[in-house]
Amino acid sequence: MVCHWSRIRPVFSVSAAILVAAGTQPNTVLAREDGRIRLDGRYFQAVDDTGAPVTVVRGLAKPDTTHVLMHRADNGRFISFFGDLHPSFAGNVVKAMGGVKQGWPVVAEAIARLGEPASNESPSEFIARMNDLFRARVEAVNRLTPSIVEVVVRAPQAARNFYPGEFYRLQNFETLAKRIDGTTLAMEGLALTGAWTDKERGLLSTIVLEMGGSSDLCAHLRPGEPVRQSATTLPQAMSPSPLTTAWAWPRVRASSGNKVAWMPP
Ligand SMILES: Cc1cc2nc3c(=O)[nH]c(=O)nc-3n(C[C@H](O)[C@H](O)[C@H](O)COP(=O)(O)OP(=O)(O)OC[C@H]3O[C@@H](n4cnc5c(N)ncnc54)[C@H](O)[C@@H]3O)c2cc1C
Repeated sequence: MVCHWSRIRPVFSVSAAILVAAGTQPNTVLAREDGRIRLDGRYFQAVDDTGAPVTVVRGLAKPDTTHVLMHRADNGRFISFFGDLHPSFAGNVVKAMGGVKQGWPVVAEAIARLGEPASNESPSEFIARMNDLFRARVEAVNRLTPSIVEVVVRAPQAARNFYPGEFYRLQNFETLAKRIDGTTLAMEGLALTGAWTDKERGLLSTIVLEMGGSSDLCAHLRPGEPVRQSATTLPQAMSPSPLTTAWAWPRVRASSGNKVAWMPP
């Protein structure tokens, strides 16, 4: 059946709320950031257990053959994909869960084929190490001037991967935020330039100018408080680099190949 839309006349109605189903599309940014991964239209390209591309059934959540692998590395390890990234299982939660139910044996077989595990860590040791590497916590909040604070966060993996000029998104967790007279002091994500790192201790410093609601809340962060701190990537020798701030620019200038535009705050 072919449907044609045609405009007839505008219709006005009084509404208390208008809800718009905006739709979404698969987040395939990994294919652009990681040159090894291929796309099949809007979705990732599925591969078989040899790494060869295969065609998957679109829109049918119970395919005869389940393909959930999307890249085979040279060492035999795979990346898998499910849910909205997968042409068979995209669209809703039930299909996403159904895809996992059908796809986990494919992943389990791929892991079994690897033979010896790459690490002898127990699952609890592995999880503890990941929690330590990836869960950011406030180390210290240092007041520098009446309107500027330094927020030092312990985030070992982010600190280890720091490049001068990189930006971070700092945000407190709503569930841990202070509540005053019924108001939750939750922040919006703040874009902040990394000022310095101590890679051995896993520390990362950002400087916050108290210019509004969210930045004003940084002074209230407590040592040990879990926060969200995620990084953007600054490719080496990117030209020009993102605009950066006074604290970072000498370090950016020193790093190889980057050209820096400095905007005074
Ligand atoms: C407005 C709207 C309404 C919807 N209503 C319904 C409904 O009523 N019923 C229904 O069944 N379905 C509904 N859906 C569809 C449903 O939400 C999705 O089909 C389902 O959530 C897909 O599950 P998923 O696990 O594939 O992806 P997601 O639920 O989107 O989970 C992906 C997760 O990965 C995280 N992530 C992304 N990139 C990275 C990264 N680089 N590193 C770490 N984490 C990352 C994201 O933050 C996210 O938490 C709706 C969708 C939208 C947009």
